[in-house]
Amino acid sequence: MCKEADWIEEKHPDFGFRFRVTERLYSTKSEFQSVEVVNTASHGKMLFNDGLVMVSERDEFVYHDMISHVPLFVHPKPKKVLVIGGGDGGTVREVLLHKEVEECTLVEIDGSVIEACKKHIPVTSKALDSHRAKVIVGDGVKFVAETAEKFDVIIVDSTDPIGPAAPLFGKEFYENVKRVLKDDGIVVSQGESPFFELETQRSMVEIVASLFEHVHIYNYSNITYPGGFWSFIWASKTLCPLGNFDEKRVKESGLKFRYYNEATHKAAFALPQFQLERLQDLLTDFS
Ligand code: SAM
Repeated sequence: MCKEADWIEEKHPDFGFRFRVTERLYSTKSEFQSVEVVNTASHGKMLFNDGLVMVSERDEFVYHDMISHVPLFVHPKPKKVLVIGGGDGGTVREVLLHKEVEECTLVEIDGSVIEACKKHIPVTSKALDSHRAKVIVGDGVKFVAETAEKFDVIIVDSTDPIGPAAPLFGKEFYENVKRVLKDDGIVVSQGESPFFELETQRSMVEIVASLFEHVHIYNYSNITYPGGFWSFIWASKTLCPLGNFDEKRVKESGLKFRYYNEATHKAAFALPQFQLERLQDLLTDFS
């Protein structure tokens, strides 16, 4: 008799999607969530937190390119970067490709995510060993409330707004982000799905619009997140993601990416009509 295939499934109340597992590599239940790493037939190694896909080797470059390079190619001199969440290391890896970055601080609440990825997903976690990476296991909400440091770019690479990530979607958190962001700083945050979480997007945009001059949302395709289409939220006191984007900098950097380029940067800000209609009154004009 054939051995039955092993599957891992991301389940939602009314739909789900699954991947065929070739090897189960890591599984733990931490203080915050369940953390699993599996190898799959179609997507390589994958990290699941509480049964939700966080990272797949097959498409992680899309998410990590777009969360990092869009702000880093607009900020004139990003020397100090803060990443909140992102314990897989993929965002830190992309941030550190920028030579101007002197230090990238990562604040991940769950040490087991870092441990799991260091053991099994080196493609994202290798950057965490860089001498320019400062890794802190702690709550990002508490960190921004207490730190005396100031940052050029802050990237909120968080899970969905449940459990310890819920306050990362709240006003108090963004008031502290504003306090620790330099005057020409940029914050970019994981902004959920336009199809399934448009009201969460509106609430996030409302919060940042009450605190920052420049507020935008941009989209990209992510094959392993529900709906395949996902967003990041942009906020800055002074910088516009298109008006202050000097696209020559991308070529001059000598860096080559698999998803990000000058055109994907600009096109990402073109919103589909249903999303535009719900958010437009809160978004800033491009200038
Ligand atoms: N790319 C991913 C996505 O959108 O599914 C996010 C990846 S990353 C693994 C998200 C991380 O945020 C998780 O490992 C989680 O432990 C961390 N996290 C959640 N709440 C946090 C908090 N309050 N402070 C710091 N890290 C937090």
